[in-house]
Amino acid sequence: MYNLKSEKAGDFIAHAEILDTLEYATRVKDDMAVVDGILEKARETKGLSHREASVLLACDNQDKVREIFNLAFDIKQQFYGNRIVLFAPLYLSNYCINGCLYCPYHRTSDIARKKLTQDEIRAETKALQNMGHKRLAIEAGEDPVHNPIEYILESLDTIYGVKHKNGAIRRVNVNIAATTVENYRKLHDAGIGTYILFQETYDKAGYEQLHPTGPKHNYAYHTEAMDRAMQGGIDDVGLGVLFGLENYRYEFTGLLMHAEHLEAVFGVGPHTISVPRVKPAHGVDPGSFDGGISDELFAKLTACIRIAVPYTGMIISTREGKSVREQLLRLGITQISGASRTSVGGYGESPEEDTRQFEVSDTRTLDEVIQWLIDLDYVPSFCTACYRAGRTGDRFMELCKSKQILNCCHPNALMTLKEYLMDYAGPETARAGEKLIEKELDTIPKERIREVVRKNLVNIQKGQRDFRL
Ligand code: SAM
Repeated sequence: MYNLKSEKAGDFIAHAEILDTLEYATRVKDDMAVVDGILEKARETKGLSHREASVLLACDNQDKVREIFNLAFDIKQQFYGNRIVLFAPLYLSNYCINGCLYCPYHRTSDIARKKLTQDEIRAETKALQNMGHKRLAIEAGEDPVHNPIEYILESLDTIYGVKHKNGAIRRVNVNIAATTVENYRKLHDAGIGTYILFQETYDKAGYEQLHPTGPKHNYAYHTEAMDRAMQGGIDDVGLGVLFGLENYRYEFTGLLMHAEHLEAVFGVGPHTISVPRVKPAHGVDPGSFDGGISDELFAKLTACIRIAVPYTGMIISTREGKSVREQLLRLGITQISGASRTSVGGYGESPEEDTRQFEVSDTRTLDEVIQWLIDLDYVPSFCTACYRAGRTGDRFMELCKSKQILNCCHPNALMTLKEYLMDYAGPETARAGEKLIEKELDTIPKERIREVVRKNLVNIQKGQRDFRL
């Protein structure tokens, strides 16, 4: 039976509750009084329940869909302004003992296998720093022999230890398979940012078919991972569904129920939600799965998540191309990856073998991505200040909910952008970026803060680095 606070996956992601929700949403989606009531509540920007949000997702009245899109845009502006945080994935190892049908790293795949040595990790980290990245997400397959937790911990140490020219990786998020409370504690103690784990699908029957073998076959163990992560002290966790596998409406409801569960049990919901779609990969044809969704539906899905959880960061990767990313940025995305390589050792001069996890659609350089963001009037941000000042979990959420985050995030974004312009930008990006900073400075409401930022910008120009409020 559905129980929001239960420790058991089958209770907090109760199949019957999802089916009930979908049936309810289908029944009332054309009742404009109900839809308007939900939109009215959404305008209070305190979020929606999975039931309410599922009605909005089901509603296909074109005027209401337009309202949903406009509201998603407004909510994003209110809580996140025009900042977009940048990161890159770093693949450590593609050894894996799982059988995930959508992933070319599965155990019986004939893909070339590779695991980075610590020296190779240092080289990859330098290459990422040379582009200007300050925030990474490390990725690895599940393999207790090749990729034990000690390997991940040593790799974290290596990455944080690389100081190359003015570069530094200031926050490392971790995307590794579900593990024990003890291992989560070790990751926490190693200073990770967010622990990210995609659910792939919330539909238990579909999940078990898509993960026929290996430890990941265990739906409950996977679904309860975020509870264990939080018990291990990690208070920033990142949820996600691999859209395209199963019915998107089912996934959407499950995802929001998961967020509600974490909020109810731990007092803080997910720090981020990712919205990856399954992509072509070695031996993987996305068309072979049941859940493919059009770009249009994908946009609506993103907007409805934005409205349902206004304070949660939303991530889109280079799985999506420029035009889809451009549309989703308006509708709620707050973080994007840039210049990503999804192969192991992919940032080196000449990666030898094709160890790629999936094809990326956005193949632009980081500088091209930054210039594009600036042209669209976004402020590209390399800020990691909250995490480094201990503003994680409920402390971050409190600030975010009260919209206070705008008072320090925007200035921090400008200062980290200035660093990027000084150290890594091409001439055109630098010119456009300087103009943007000048313009954005005027939007800082408090004069005192504006003056501090101006002073820091001069100091960055003179060669100093790493200022933050
Ligand atoms: N191995 C870890 C686990 O079990 O969760 C996570 C690391 S894996 C490198 C990161 C994510 O890539 C997976 O959670 C999955 O959602 C995604 N992925 C796998 N195959 C994909 C594909 N063909 N297209 C898009 N994303 C894919």
